[in-house]
Amino acid sequence: MYRLLSKSAAVAFASVAASILLALIVVPALGGVVDGTAWVMLVMCPLAIAWPASAYMFWQGDKLKRAHDELARAHAELAAAHSRLEEKSKRDPMTGMLNRETFFQALDRTRRRSDRGALLIIDADHFKKINDSFGHLTGDDALLEIAAAIRRAVRAGDVLGRIGGEEFGALLVGATDDEAARVAERIRHEVELIRFRPVDERTVPLTVSIGGTVCGHDTTVSDLMRAADRRLYEAKSRGRNLAIVEPVAAAA
Ligand code: GH3
Ligand code: MG
Ligand code: MG
Repeated sequence: MYRLLSKSAAVAFASVAASILLALIVVPALGGVVDGTAWVMLVMCPLAIAWPASAYMFWQGDKLKRAHDELARAHAELAAAHSRLEEKSKRDPMTGMLNRETFFQALDRTRRRSDRGALLIIDADHFKKINDSFGHLTGDDALLEIAAAIRRAVRAGDVLGRIGGEEFGALLVGATDDEAARVAERIRHEVELIRFRPVDERTVPLTVSIGGTVCGHDTTVSDLMRAADRRLYEAKSRGRNLAIVEPVAAAA
Protein backbone atom coordinates (compact mmCIF):
# COMPACT_ATOMS: atom_id res chain seq x y z
CA MET A 1 0.00 0.00 0.00
CA TYR A 2 2.80 2.41 0.97
CA ARG A 3 4.67 1.51 -2.23
CA LEU A 4 1.54 2.08 -4.29
CA LEU A 5 0.88 5.52 -2.70
CA SER A 6 4.45 6.70 -3.08
CA LYS A 7 4.64 5.52 -6.71
CA SER A 8 1.39 7.34 -7.57
CA ALA A 9 2.58 10.43 -5.63
CA ALA A 10 5.73 10.48 -7.76
CA VAL A 11 3.57 10.38 -10.92
CA ALA A 12 1.32 13.17 -9.52
CA PHE A 13 4.29 15.43 -8.70
CA ALA A 14 5.83 14.77 -12.10
CA SER A 15 2.50 15.78 -13.66
CA VAL A 16 2.51 19.01 -11.58
CA ALA A 17 6.05 19.77 -12.76
CA ALA A 18 5.14 19.03 -16.38
CA SER A 19 2.02 21.19 -16.34
CA ILE A 20 3.92 24.11 -14.71
CA LEU A 21 6.70 23.81 -17.30
CA LEU A 22 4.16 23.66 -20.14
CA ALA A 23 2.22 26.66 -18.74
CA LEU A 24 5.43 28.69 -18.35
CA ILE A 25 6.28 28.06 -22.02
CA VAL A 26 2.84 28.21 -23.64
CA VAL A 27 1.03 30.97 -21.66
CA PRO A 28 3.69 33.72 -22.18
CA ALA A 29 4.01 32.65 -25.83
CA LEU A 30 0.28 33.35 -26.21
CA GLY A 31 0.75 36.71 -24.51
CA GLY A 32 -0.78 35.70 -21.19
CA VAL A 33 0.50 35.78 -17.63
CA VAL A 34 0.68 32.91 -15.16
CA ASP A 35 -1.00 34.52 -12.13
CA GLY A 36 -1.94 33.23 -8.64
CA THR A 37 -5.14 31.44 -9.73
CA ALA A 38 -3.29 29.82 -12.60
CA TRP A 39 -0.60 28.58 -10.17
CA VAL A 40 -3.28 27.03 -7.94
CA MET A 41 -4.88 25.32 -10.96
CA LEU A 42 -1.50 24.18 -12.27
CA VAL A 43 -0.79 22.42 -8.98
CA MET A 44 -4.31 21.27 -7.97
CA CYS A 45 -5.50 19.83 -11.30
CA PRO A 46 -2.65 17.37 -11.88
CA LEU A 47 -2.66 16.42 -8.18
CA ALA A 48 -6.44 15.80 -8.15
CA ILE A 49 -6.43 13.85 -11.43
CA ALA A 50 -3.01 12.17 -11.79
CA TRP A 51 -2.67 10.97 -8.17
CA PRO A 52 -5.90 8.91 -7.93
CA ALA A 53 -5.71 7.84 -11.59
CA SER A 54 -2.15 6.54 -11.29
CA ALA A 55 -2.89 4.98 -7.88
CA TYR A 56 -5.78 3.06 -9.50
CA MET A 57 -3.58 1.97 -12.42
CA PHE A 58 -0.76 0.77 -10.14
CA TRP A 59 -3.30 -1.11 -8.00
CA GLN A 60 -4.71 -2.84 -11.09
CA GLY A 61 -1.18 -3.62 -12.28
CA ASP A 62 -0.30 -5.19 -8.92
CA LYS A 63 -3.50 -7.25 -9.01
CA LEU A 64 -2.65 -8.49 -12.49
CA LYS A 65 0.88 -9.39 -11.46
CA ARG A 66 -0.42 -11.30 -8.40
CA ALA A 67 -2.89 -13.19 -10.61
CA HIS A 68 -0.10 -13.95 -13.06
CA ASP A 69 2.19 -15.23 -10.26
CA GLU A 70 -0.63 -17.39 -8.92
CA LEU A 71 -1.23 -18.83 -12.39
CA ALA A 72 2.48 -19.54 -12.88
CA ARG A 73 2.59 -21.30 -9.48
CA ALA A 74 -0.51 -23.39 -10.32
CA HIS A 75 1.04 -24.24 -13.67
CA ALA A 76 4.30 -25.39 -12.04
CA GLU A 77 2.36 -27.52 -9.51
CA LEU A 78 0.31 -29.07 -12.32
CA ALA A 79 3.45 -29.86 -14.34
CA ALA A 80 5.07 -31.48 -11.27
CA ALA A 81 1.90 -33.53 -10.56
CA HIS A 82 1.78 -34.56 -14.21
CA SER A 83 5.38 -35.77 -14.25
CA ARG A 84 4.84 -37.59 -10.90
CA LEU A 85 1.79 -39.30 -12.37
CA GLU A 86 3.62 -40.16 -15.58
CA GLU A 87 6.52 -41.63 -13.60
CA LYS A 88 4.06 -43.60 -11.43
CA SER A 89 2.27 -44.99 -14.48
CA LYS A 90 5.56 -46.53 -15.64
CA ARG A 91 6.19 -48.39 -12.40
CA ASP A 92 4.90 -51.51 -10.73
CA PRO A 93 3.23 -50.17 -7.56
CA MET A 94 4.42 -53.04 -5.38
CA THR A 95 8.15 -53.20 -6.10
CA GLY A 96 8.70 -49.76 -7.64
CA MET A 97 10.45 -51.41 -10.61
CA LEU A 98 9.41 -50.58 -14.17
CA ASN A 99 6.20 -52.30 -15.23
CA ARG A 100 6.25 -54.85 -18.04
CA GLU A 101 5.35 -52.45 -20.83
CA THR A 102 7.87 -49.78 -19.84
CA PHE A 103 10.60 -52.37 -19.28
CA PHE A 104 10.19 -53.72 -22.82
CA GLN A 105 10.12 -50.20 -24.21
CA ALA A 106 13.44 -49.54 -22.44
CA LEU A 107 14.81 -52.81 -23.77
CA ASP A 108 13.73 -51.89 -27.29
CA ARG A 109 15.27 -48.41 -27.02
CA THR A 110 18.58 -49.75 -25.69
CA ARG A 111 18.63 -52.46 -28.33
CA ARG A 112 18.28 -49.92 -31.13
CA ARG A 113 21.06 -47.75 -29.69
CA SER A 114 23.65 -50.44 -29.10
CA ASP A 115 24.60 -54.02 -29.99
CA ARG A 116 25.87 -54.63 -26.49
CA GLY A 117 24.06 -55.54 -23.26
CA ALA A 118 22.28 -58.52 -21.79
CA LEU A 119 18.79 -59.53 -20.75
CA LEU A 120 18.08 -61.65 -17.69
CA ILE A 121 14.71 -63.14 -16.82
CA ILE A 122 14.45 -63.99 -13.14
CA ASP A 123 11.64 -66.20 -11.91
CA ALA A 124 10.92 -67.09 -8.28
CA ASP A 125 11.06 -70.84 -7.70
CA HIS A 126 7.99 -72.74 -6.47
CA PHE A 127 6.36 -69.49 -5.50
CA LYS A 128 2.87 -70.93 -5.58
CA LYS A 129 3.90 -73.10 -2.61
CA ILE A 130 4.75 -69.96 -0.56
CA ASN A 131 1.31 -68.51 -1.24
CA ASP A 132 -0.40 -71.81 -0.53
CA SER A 133 1.49 -72.32 2.74
CA PHE A 134 1.51 -68.77 4.18
CA GLY A 135 -1.08 -66.79 2.26
CA HIS A 136 -0.91 -64.20 -0.48
CA LEU A 137 0.15 -61.30 1.78
CA THR A 138 3.18 -63.21 3.01
CA GLY A 139 3.83 -64.10 -0.63
CA ASP A 140 3.89 -60.37 -1.37
CA ASP A 141 6.48 -59.84 1.40
CA ALA A 142 8.62 -62.58 -0.10
CA LEU A 143 8.37 -60.94 -3.53
CA LEU A 144 9.51 -57.63 -2.03
CA GLU A 145 12.50 -59.36 -0.44
CA ILE A 146 13.39 -60.94 -3.78
CA ALA A 147 13.03 -57.59 -5.57
CA ALA A 148 15.35 -55.97 -2.99
CA ALA A 149 17.92 -58.75 -3.43
CA ILE A 150 17.86 -58.27 -7.22
CA ARG A 151 18.38 -54.51 -6.72
CA ARG A 152 21.37 -55.17 -4.48
CA ALA A 153 22.97 -57.47 -7.06
CA VAL A 154 22.76 -55.37 -10.23
CA ARG A 155 25.01 -52.48 -11.20
CA ALA A 156 24.08 -48.81 -11.15
CA GLY A 157 22.56 -47.99 -14.53
CA ASP A 158 21.04 -51.44 -15.12
CA VAL A 159 17.29 -51.40 -15.71
CA LEU A 160 14.90 -53.55 -13.68
CA GLY A 161 11.30 -54.41 -14.37
CA ARG A 162 8.59 -56.63 -12.95
CA ILE A 163 7.48 -58.42 -16.09
CA GLY A 164 5.09 -60.93 -14.51
CA GLY A 165 3.65 -61.90 -11.14
CA GLU A 166 6.80 -63.52 -9.73
CA GLU A 167 8.99 -62.76 -12.71
CA PHE A 168 11.50 -59.93 -13.12
CA GLY A 169 13.59 -58.65 -16.00
CA ALA A 170 17.03 -57.11 -15.76
CA LEU A 171 18.55 -55.23 -18.63
CA LEU A 172 22.30 -55.15 -18.06
CA VAL A 173 23.36 -52.15 -20.08
CA GLY A 174 26.56 -52.73 -22.09
CA ALA A 175 27.31 -56.06 -20.33
CA THR A 176 29.49 -58.74 -21.95
CA ASP A 177 28.83 -62.51 -21.54
CA ASP A 178 31.14 -62.70 -18.53
CA GLU A 179 29.66 -59.65 -16.81
CA ALA A 180 26.11 -60.87 -17.44
CA ALA A 181 26.92 -64.32 -16.05
CA ARG A 182 28.51 -62.71 -12.99
CA VAL A 183 25.53 -60.43 -12.31
CA ALA A 184 23.09 -63.32 -12.82
CA GLU A 185 25.03 -65.46 -10.36
CA ARG A 186 25.16 -62.56 -7.89
CA ILE A 187 21.34 -62.19 -8.12
CA ARG A 188 20.84 -65.91 -7.58
CA HIS A 189 23.18 -65.84 -4.60
CA GLU A 190 21.65 -62.69 -3.01
CA VAL A 191 18.18 -64.27 -3.16
CA GLU A 192 19.50 -67.50 -1.66
CA LEU A 193 20.94 -65.49 1.24
CA ILE A 194 17.55 -64.03 2.21
CA ARG A 195 16.46 -65.20 5.65
CA PHE A 196 12.69 -65.15 5.17
CA ARG A 197 10.81 -65.87 8.40
CA PRO A 198 7.10 -65.36 7.77
CA VAL A 199 5.68 -67.00 10.95
CA ASP A 200 8.22 -68.12 13.49
CA GLU A 201 11.97 -68.49 13.72
CA ARG A 202 11.90 -71.06 10.95
CA THR A 203 13.53 -69.78 7.75
CA VAL A 204 11.67 -70.42 4.52
CA PRO A 205 14.12 -70.71 1.63
CA LEU A 206 13.64 -68.36 -1.31
CA THR A 207 15.37 -69.06 -4.60
CA VAL A 208 15.17 -67.91 -8.19
CA SER A 209 16.01 -69.39 -11.56
CA ILE A 210 17.55 -67.12 -14.14
CA GLY A 211 17.73 -67.32 -17.90
CA GLY A 212 19.90 -64.79 -19.64
CA THR A 213 21.26 -63.90 -22.99
CA VAL A 214 23.70 -61.41 -24.40
CA CYS A 215 22.84 -59.19 -27.35
CA GLY A 216 24.50 -60.00 -30.62
CA HIS A 217 24.54 -58.13 -33.89
CA ASP A 218 21.04 -57.95 -35.44
CA THR A 219 19.24 -59.61 -32.52
CA THR A 220 15.73 -58.27 -32.00
CA VAL A 221 13.95 -57.89 -28.67
CA SER A 222 11.88 -60.99 -29.41
CA ASP A 223 15.06 -62.97 -30.21
CA LEU A 224 16.43 -61.89 -26.82
CA MET A 225 13.22 -62.77 -25.00
CA ARG A 226 12.96 -66.16 -26.67
CA ALA A 227 16.59 -66.99 -25.91
CA ALA A 228 16.41 -65.84 -22.27
CA ASP A 229 13.13 -67.73 -21.80
CA ARG A 230 14.67 -70.90 -23.17
CA ARG A 231 17.57 -70.60 -20.71
CA LEU A 232 15.14 -69.97 -17.87
CA TYR A 233 13.17 -73.07 -18.82
CA GLU A 234 16.42 -75.05 -18.85
CA ALA A 235 17.39 -73.69 -15.42
CA LYS A 236 13.99 -74.76 -14.06
CA SER A 237 14.25 -78.22 -15.54
CA ARG A 238 17.77 -78.67 -14.19
CA GLY A 239 16.48 -78.28 -10.64
CA ARG A 240 15.98 -74.49 -10.16
CA ASN A 241 18.10 -72.07 -8.06
CA LEU A 242 20.32 -71.81 -11.12
CA ALA A 243 21.46 -69.08 -13.54
CA ILE A 244 22.17 -69.88 -17.17
CA VAL A 245 23.45 -67.11 -19.43
CA GLU A 246 24.50 -67.64 -23.04
CA PRO A 247 24.56 -65.58 -26.25
CA VAL A 248 21.45 -65.64 -28.46
CA ALA A 249 23.01 -67.94 -31.07
CA ALA A 250 23.92 -70.55 -28.45
CA ALA A 251 20.48 -70.37 -26.88
CA ALA A 252 18.53 -70.43 -30.15
P1 GH3 B 1 8.21 -72.37 -10.80
O1 GH3 B 1 9.37 -72.70 -9.95
O2 GH3 B 1 8.00 -73.39 -11.88
O3 GH3 B 1 8.26 -70.99 -11.35
O4 GH3 B 1 6.94 -72.48 -9.87
P2 GH3 B 1 5.98 -71.33 -9.39
O5 GH3 B 1 5.08 -71.88 -8.35
O6 GH3 B 1 6.77 -70.15 -9.01
O7 GH3 B 1 5.24 -70.95 -10.73
P3 GH3 B 1 3.72 -70.89 -11.06
O8 GH3 B 1 3.65 -70.22 -12.41
O9 GH3 B 1 3.08 -72.24 -10.96
O10 GH3 B 1 3.10 -69.96 -9.97
C1 GH3 B 1 3.40 -68.64 -9.85
C2 GH3 B 1 2.81 -68.18 -8.56
O11 GH3 B 1 3.16 -66.83 -8.30
C3 GH3 B 1 1.32 -68.25 -8.56
C4 GH3 B 1 0.86 -66.88 -8.28
O12 GH3 B 1 -0.23 -66.85 -7.39
C5 GH3 B 1 2.06 -66.25 -7.62
N1 GH3 B 1 2.05 -64.83 -7.80
C6 GH3 B 1 2.08 -64.12 -8.93
N2 GH3 B 1 2.02 -62.81 -8.67
C7 GH3 B 1 1.94 -62.66 -7.33
C8 GH3 B 1 1.85 -61.54 -6.44
O13 GH3 B 1 1.83 -60.37 -6.84
N3 GH3 B 1 1.79 -61.79 -5.12
C9 GH3 B 1 1.81 -63.07 -4.65
N4 GH3 B 1 1.74 -63.24 -3.33
N5 GH3 B 1 1.87 -64.13 -5.43
C10 GH3 B 1 1.96 -63.94 -6.77
MG1 MG C 1 7.96 -69.14 -10.53
MG1 MG D 1 6.63 -67.42 -13.52
